[in-house]
Formats: sequence, structure tokens, C-alpha cells
Amino acid sequence: MSHNLFESFAERMAARGDADFIVTRDGRRYSYAQALEASARLASTLTSLGVERGDRVAVQVDKSPEAILLYLACLRIGGAYLPLNTGYTSTEIAYFLGDAEPALFVCRPNAADEAERVAAETGCPRVVTLGTEGDGSLMEMAEQAEPSDAIEARAENDLAAILYTSGTTGRSKGAMLTHGNLASNAQALVDAWRFDANDRLIHALPIFHTHGLFVACNVVLMAGAAMLFMPKFDIDAILEEIPRGTALMGVPTYYTRLLADERLTPDLARHMRLFTSGSAPLTAETHTEFERRTGHAILERYGMTETSMNTSNPYDGKRIAGTVGLPLPGVEIHVVDRETGAALPTGETGMLKVRGPNVFIGYWRMPDKTAEELGEDGFFITGDLAKIDEHGYVQIVGRDKDLVISGGYNVYPKEVEQEIDAMDAVVESAVIGVPHPDLGECVTAVVVPQSGAAIDEQQVIDALTDRLARYKQPKRVFFVDELPRNTMGKVQKNQLRERFNAIYRKG
Ligand code: ATP
Ligand code: MG
Repeated sequence: MSHNLFESFAERMAARGDADFIVTRDGRRYSYAQALEASARLASTLTSLGVERGDRVAVQVDKSPEAILLYLACLRIGGAYLPLNTGYTSTEIAYFLGDAEPALFVCRPNAADEAERVAAETGCPRVVTLGTEGDGSLMEMAEQAEPSDAIEARAENDLAAILYTSGTTGRSKGAMLTHGNLASNAQALVDAWRFDANDRLIHALPIFHTHGLFVACNVVLMAGAAMLFMPKFDIDAILEEIPRGTALMGVPTYYTRLLADERLTPDLARHMRLFTSGSAPLTAETHTEFERRTGHAILERYGMTETSMNTSNPYDGKRIAGTVGLPLPGVEIHVVDRETGAALPTGETGMLKVRGPNVFIGYWRMPDKTAEELGEDGFFITGDLAKIDEHGYVQIVGRDKDLVISGGYNVYPKEVEQEIDAMDAVVESAVIGVPHPDLGECVTAVVVPQSGAAIDEQQVIDALTDRLARYKQPKRVFFVDELPRNTMGKVQKNQLRERFNAIYRKG
């Protein structure tokens, strides 16, 4: 029996017929029937361009419904979809094309010349633009093509996509995800979050990342729901769409920006049934304040490129601010000692490991890295530090690579950040470890002050004196206008560590 993920989608797509699949802000619309037909034409176009089962199709395009059709076409023919961050430069693209060796590179219309150059340099045989219609692009070729209704047979363990990680802790790694991984995760989320054909998901996330692609689009396709597509997060657009939607999948910055806007009223969100947050930590204050303002408790969940989603706060049960909820059905979460790997008692902080049908099969062409992180027992070592309470709720404490070891003591940055953030004059902070001649690493704070607030280094240090053990207190505090973040709202601590790297050097 075949397990091509597209088979599950196709069944629902056919059943939904003329119902909305994707509606854009500029008035374009694909019904399910249209999307099914377009994906069949694109599938035969891909085949005519020489893409075969098992081939990678690298894609760097702006967000559009057509990009989703291309993803579907790629699944249909048994290819591996490989989306690339729209922010990557030619140099970065050259690395990814060289690493992934795709059979085809689909690029933006205005980047075709540069893409041809990079493709020639890296041995990628074919470049084409995606386009919309009538512009010499893949979509134009598809217009002329005979639709191919065939769906390539795939086993559960066959590759459906290679998704590069965000590169927060180092060079991005290509996570190999199978049809089984994506199908099980999408179904688990449809069940957990009660998605059905009446849902209209407000989709503002990028579609080159697991959150916007595999969480958002796959859930919608599995449920036969609709997506209100916007190119990116835009506060005016979101506020306009909220009354038309039923659900919003967001990252924490969406919520802090919504809260800063007076137009966010309980009445505005009356028809919504679900607001979710993930990809970066949501503070308990944002959670509480959003509930006070709108009556909606944001449902925070936790996932990553390698596993799609691992945990979620419950839809019906208690959503606990500051936690990422409970493991999804079939997903096992263990917390172990970060050095010895021994199991830890409830409530203790350690390395989070995960096992389940959602866990990827390894990093593309990185056997050593794969062996390091993906154990023979099937557990993936996530690199996140966490603790689990007696009711099973998981709390993410931070990343293992961000842990500061100062004078032999472990300092969890989040604990220090929470104390600093509680100061009236502070918007937010990031705590990092900076090389120090005596301590090894020294706790250092980078703080965004409230605009106009008079606050200095000593005030921050003094405020923490009675609140934190001495070894946890930052020795130096620096002020910045904003923290460096990527498009998913993740703070780029690597950049901060680089910037402040030399401050404790002797001499
Ligand atoms: P790289 O692996 O290349 O360093 P990355 O880990 O940021 O980059 P992603 O797979 O996009 O790449 O992000 C997954 C990570 O995001 C998780 O490991 C975790 O650290 C963080 N994360 C996701 N959801 C949450 C959440 N709800 N709370 C806290 N952290 C989260
Ligand atoms: Mg990661």
C-alpha cells in the first residue's frame, strides 16, 4: 500500500470541490478543485522537465498560492520538496544547491539570471521561475500541460521533503522528512486542534519554514479548511482578517505587536476559535495579557524542523502560560541529564529527547551529525533544555548551546532574563555567556529599555542583587534598541555572542 502524503490530501481536495482553499489579500482565489487540477498540470510539467521520483526540487520563491501548488505537485511525483529561505543570498543558495544537488531550481522571476549563474556553478541542471501565468514560467508551462492524475506510490519512510533548519545555533542542516512523518503530524494536529472544513486559517507565516508549511498548510489540507494568505505579518492586514478567520497560527512577536495595538478588542476576535504560538518562547505576560484583552488563551506549542510538532497545550483542557503543553499522541518526551544521558526526576531541568512517528530520518549528507543526535533507540536529542511537571506539561528552559557555565555553575539565561524583563524600564532582554579569563564564561545581559526610560547598567545589576544568586547575576549590561531576530521571531544569540565576544579579554 502506498503512503504518499498527497493521497490523503487528494481525497479531501476532491471532496471539497469549489470550496475555498487559498484566498489572497489581493483577491485571488484557488478552490480545492482548481488546486487539485493545477497540481496535476504542474506534476506533468515537473516530469517533462526531467524531475524523477526521489529527486530534490529546490525552491526559493516569494510566498504565493502557486508555491503551495508546486509543493503539492512535487509530492505527487514522489519528489523531495526543498524550500529555501527567501532571505538567502546567492552565496548561501550556492551552498544549498551544492549540498542538495536538486534536479531543478525554481526561483523568483527577478532572480533568474543570478539563479542560472549559481546553478551552472553548482551543477544544477535546470532553473525555472515560478511565476503566475503567461510569463514564461513554470506556471505558464503548466497551463499548456496535460494534467497527470497519477500519484507516485511512496512508502512511509520515503523522503517527502528536505527542510533546512533555521541556523540559529550554527550552519543550517537539511532535515530529511518522510511521507509518514508529515502525514502523522498533520493528522495529530487536526485532531488535537479540532480543525475541520469550516475553518479559515489566517496564514501570515513564511512557507519555507516548518511552521508555515508543514504545520499550517498540511493541517489545512488534511482538514479541507481554507487559508487566508498574506505575504507576511502586517499588523493592519491581520487586524482586518481576524473578523474573517477562525484561527491564527503565529509566533510570539505577532502577539506582542497585536497587544501594542488599540484596535485589538474582544469584539474583533469574537469569531476566532484558536490562536496558537510557537517557534520561539511566548512569555507568560504576553499570554496573560492577550487573554485579558481578547478572552482567548493563546495555545502555545513546541516543535522544530526535525520533528514538526512535539507538544501542544490542550484544546479543551488547561492551557498553562509559560509551558508548551503535553506531548502529542504517539510522541514520547524524555528529559535526561545533559552530560550523562541518565533519566531525571520530574521537575528537574535537562536535555529534551523526543521519539515518535514525527521524528525525521536524519540530516541530509551529515551522517556524523545524524549519529550524534539521532540515537539507535529512535530518540532525537533536540538540543533544548526542558523540565516536565507532575501533570506532564513541558516547559522549555532554553537551548543547551545558550546555557552559560560560569565558574563551573550552570546559569539558565531564561531565569535571568525573566528577572530583568520584570523591571518597569525594560522591554526585553537576552542573557548570554561571554568568554571570561577567570570564569570561563561570564553572564552578560543585553537589554532593550522602554523608550525614554532612564536606566543604566548599575540599576539593572542592583535590581538583581536580592533576586538571584551571585553567580547568576550579569557582570555587564549593555543597552540596544532591539534584539536581533530572524523572521520567525527567534532571538539570534550567536550574533550577540559575536558582538560582545571580546569584552572581558585581559589587556
Ligand atoms: P538550528 O537547528 O539550525 O540551530 P533552529 O533550532 O532555530 O535552528 P528550527 O527548527 O526552526 O531551527 O527551530 C526549532 C527550535 O525553536 C526548537 O529547538 C526550540 O529551541 C525553538 N522553539 C520552537 N517552539 C518553541 C516554543 N514554543 N518555546 C520555546 N522554544 C521554541
Ligand atoms: Mg535546531
